Amino acid sequence: MVDLKTEYQRLKKEIDTAVIDVIESAAFINGKPVQDFSKALADYLNVKHVIPCANGTDALQIAMMALDLQPGDEVITPSFTYIATTEVVALLRLNPVFVEVDKQTFNIDVESLRKAITPKTKAIVPVHLYGQSCDMEAIMQVANEHNIPVIEDNAQSIGGDYYFTDGTSKKTGTIGTIGTTSFYPAKNLGAYGDGGAMFTNDDALAQRLTMIANHGQSKRYYHDVVGCNSRLDTIQAAILNIRLQHLDKNIAARIKAADHYSDAFKDHSIIQPPFRAKNNRHVFHQYTLILNSDRKDLRDDLSAYLSGKKIPNMIYYPVPGHRQKMFETFGALEYKLAVTDWLTERVISLPMHPELDEEQLQFIADNVLAYFN
Ligand SMILES: *Cc1c(COP(=O)(O)O)cnc(C)c1O
Repeated sequence: MVDLKTEYQRLKKEIDTAVIDVIESAAFINGKPVQDFSKALADYLNVKHVIPCANGTDALQIAMMALDLQPGDEVITPSFTYIATTEVVALLRLNPVFVEVDKQTFNIDVESLRKAITPKTKAIVPVHLYGQSCDMEAIMQVANEHNIPVIEDNAQSIGGDYYFTDGTSKKTGTIGTIGTTSFYPAKNLGAYGDGGAMFTNDDALAQRLTMIANHGQSKRYYHDVVGCNSRLDTIQAAILNIRLQHLDKNIAARIKAADHYSDAFKDHSIIQPPFRAKNNRHVFHQYTLILNSDRKDLRDDLSAYLSGKKIPNMIYYPVPGHRQKMFETFGALEYKLAVTDWLTERVISLPMHPELDEEQLQFIADNVLAYFN
């Protein structure tokens, strides 16, 4: 699904030097590259504060802790997302409230969000799934009407742009109260291990996020609030500093690959290429098709067919949140999320990364098409 070796071969000299520099400096924790990377990422995103942490799941958890949510508070999230988004809600003894997604964008459905708001709603967590921004203008309007903070889960969409109706634009993850991301190696901006970050324009929140990620410490050995230990390794920051410089070029290559696939699949009766909403620039973390058919075994059959041809393919995600055993005690089984269920049974993702060449893309597309002939 991804090719992390080819880019490394290209950047080897630069990356090896940066890693060895860290080892020689022995500043493995909170070394200079950590501050350098946070600053560089803040500049790239045009956001005031970037607070690094250990991974994207921690970023979500620390964001929720910083908002001072209390057990029993309701947090609205889509059911159609990676488990991390909803898992941390439950971990903090908050109540996940699952809402429906849009059938075309896979992202939070704003009407469903509006209906789910109660006096107990204390946060909204939109997820920019597969590389496409949620409709942030509409989401922020609903959130502001009710004075509810928004945590953007931007793990899959770093570098994405959202276009407001007034003609301005912002990077995804910098529109809500807090944005979070992951530097898991396979993400669009990946480290060579784990990593994550939070973004905010709010000075007081930035201070709280920093403190919580560092044992709630205000100054050394003085702990004001309950926090955790969540740090971005210096070695990972040094690698990310280099990879960040290639992010835009890599996004352009992803978009080009998506264009190639989508051109091959256009006007097909069953294969539905990803829809790209006009309000944002899709950065194609995943290239996910919908198989628009009611044949129950079709998707798994295609998956097996492609695997037989040694073409990687994945189902993101076969089981939505409201059908996970983990959430049974939160009343998850009572949800009726028809669109989420419909999509869950029909999505399939093809290889997507900046190193795909036209020959590979055509080979993959030809084989997908051949299955239906
Ligand atoms: C990857 C991912 C996360 C979690 O990131 P980790 O770094 O693996 O903890 C959270 N949310 C979404 C949508 C993700 O894709």
